[in-house]
Amino acid sequence: MVEKKKPIVSVARNIDISKAVHLALDKIEIPNLSGKTILLKPNVGREVDPKLGINTNPDVVEATFNYLRDRYEANFLIGDSPIINTDTKKAFEQSGFTDLLNNKDLQFIDLDKLTPVKKEIPNGKILKNIRITGYFHDIDYIISIPVLKMHMHCGASLSFKNMKGLIYKRDKIALHHLQSPKLIEELKKSMRKIKELDIAIADLANIFVPDLVVIDASYAHEGMGPSSGNAVKLDTIIASTNFLAADIIALTLTQPEWSLEDVPHLKLISETILPSIKTLKDIKTIPENINKFVKRLEPPPKSITIKYQNVKLIDIDSCSACLSTIFNLLKNNKEFIDKHYTSEKPLNLAIGKGIKKSDLYSDTYLIGNCTFHQKENGTFIQGCTPVESTILKTIKEKLTLNSK
Ligand code: SF4
Repeated sequence: MVEKKKPIVSVARNIDISKAVHLALDKIEIPNLSGKTILLKPNVGREVDPKLGINTNPDVVEATFNYLRDRYEANFLIGDSPIINTDTKKAFEQSGFTDLLNNKDLQFIDLDKLTPVKKEIPNGKILKNIRITGYFHDIDYIISIPVLKMHMHCGASLSFKNMKGLIYKRDKIALHHLQSPKLIEELKKSMRKIKELDIAIADLANIFVPDLVVIDASYAHEGMGPSSGNAVKLDTIIASTNFLAADIIALTLTQPEWSLEDVPHLKLISETILPSIKTLKDIKTIPENINKFVKRLEPPPKSITIKYQNVKLIDIDSCSACLSTIFNLLKNNKEFIDKHYTSEKPLNLAIGKGIKKSDLYSDTYLIGNCTFHQKENGTFIQGCTPVESTILKTIKEKLTLNSK
């Protein structure tokens, strides 16, 4: 019997991350891309500084671009669609992409600029259609260049999750608000952790997958990802033309005890779209022995209250923009919170469209426009994304009022 060819994933480590990119790409077979329109799709979701493990390291993107431009006469684009209320160009500039964007051989595109394309997803389990970037039909080849991240909502965010940036503007948020209790009940028979969001992300694989993947673990992100954990310098690159295989290797290196169950959207994709790839055994790695690259990362906490005993966060179907605001609020004001709240009398916060009256304490701050429907049952703070300073101001005002 002929053995089925396994997908190849190469792993390289070098303190000079450009060298690591070259080493990793040299080991995989990339088709002839001359004449193609290629999208470099880093993860540039936020206006943050470079090398924090939040947005993709520009050095990794530049090295990928240089590698391909030296080999293929292609039309190179670079772009993303960040989280809501974020300016795409500013996010690129703040995260260190300015020089790259000035390169005459590379065209910057804001993926939200053109009128979106509506895609039907007849095989979608929960997502039946979605609006995606208006550039979609101009692109022949997509290169996903994500940061290797732990993620509070999805377990981990890797090369496929990075493709969520192809969804048009606020339609991304709709993925957080889908409800299908029956489907969840059915899937829970075979999967421990599964949410509507995981199913919706997996459904996207019916309309697009990346053609080439360069996972940036120069600075990986552990703990409270996607943006409030810690950067961990790994100087590592993972490359493949098979996104699922690359994502599995990224998990093997950073969460060796996990299975795909821990990143449910990948498990669903492995069951429905790429059934021959489930574990490390189904993949050929270069080098064959990748043990020396293993570095366990702190997983995402199951609940934010693990770290903040005096904060109770009720998060039902929020998106990562709201979650990031809360994490930053807690991180930047720890001293203030510790002074005024205890585990017996905690600071109660609620985010997300799915919160119900029965989830709330009487003194809960309802944060973000998604909680508006519960505004009678707590202190509502508007915003989408809600603003950290406004939340703090409201909390302080209420404390002053209560002390009178
Ligand atoms: S209010 Fe918060 S959870 Fe709702 S869409 Fe806006 S940022 Fe996301």
